[in-house]
Amino acid sequence: RARETGSGFEYYHMEMKRDAQKRMVMVRELRKAVEDLHFLPYYQPQYSLHNGNILGMEVLVRWKHQDRGMIGPGEFIQLAEETGLIVPLGEWVLRTACMQWKEWRNKGLSPGKLAVNVSAKQFQQNDFVHKVESILEETGMDSQSLELEITESAAMYDTDKAVANIHALSDLGIAISIDDFGTGYLSFGYLKKFPIQKLKIERSFVRDLRADSDNEAIVSTIITMAHKLGMSVVAEGVETEEQAQVLRTHRCEGGQGYLFHQPMPAQDMEKLLKSNMNN
Ligand code: C2E
Ligand code: CA
Ligand code: CA
Repeated sequence: RARETGSGFEYYHMEMKRDAQKRMVMVRELRKAVEDLHFLPYYQPQYSLHNGNILGMEVLVRWKHQDRGMIGPGEFIQLAEETGLIVPLGEWVLRTACMQWKEWRNKGLSPGKLAVNVSAKQFQQNDFVHKVESILEETGMDSQSLELEITESAAMYDTDKAVANIHALSDLGIAISIDDFGTGYLSFGYLKKFPIQKLKIERSFVRDLRADSDNEAIVSTIITMAHKLGMSVVAEGVETEEQAQVLRTHRCEGGQGYLFHQPMPAQDMEKLLKSNMNN
């Protein structure tokens, strides 16, 4: 209704202008940050729900903003995708995490699998597989320990290319997992066509997960079907022992979430890996 009055319209107009200006500033800052590499990789461990061992870790990027401190990806990944900046940024995240993984291995630690998020934009690049291959070579990262997380929409977009890319990566020994599973439109029939090793159950299904809840029905269906297709399952956003218990009942292999650990800088992850070796 505000738009009907003159001043209301003006107000609305000003708001839009301000949003557009904010966005322009943000794009400029983001571009500069990508040039200057003002980002930090955080690592969040994934645990076996059966024996409590660390299965691996996911790398989650943070923007080290000069005035605003550490900014989470929720605030800039979409913009990075829209502007194409996700391509160099994603490549940097992959290279940095692979280097870190290799360093941990050289120190005699067991970081397990390294999971890296790949956006649809990256996945669509013609030279994506080649880039991954050269990063593996350059860093000495073991391809068998690398896992790329792609969303359902990235797997569906331009299907022929997606299928070809997944096969090519798989031939290199790299595992593919489907991120945020359950939020998109991928059918199990479609999934069967891909060499996919893992499904990650989207956090929103885990949030209200209790015995005999609707979410329990959804989660147990996903797990059963995934297992029938030979895939393993990791649940995102596990915050309570009760959620972990329900997931365990349904034979979900892995869990990731605040119940275990929040994402952390490399030094903290290194301490965790060390303490894990000692007991
Ligand atoms: P995602 O891949 O679904 O990552 C999981 C998100 O859930 C992370 O948010 C993580 O910090 C958060 N999380 C983990 N455990 C819990 C929990 O127990 N409770 C709650 N409430 N949250 C939990 P984050 O780090 O803010 O990342 C958000 C999203 O940004 C990621 O969602 C991913 O889609 C994207 N992202 C992060 N890093 C990258 C990257 O390097 N490349 C690309 N393309 N996307 C990235
Ligand atoms: Ca992910
Ligand atoms: Ca998610």
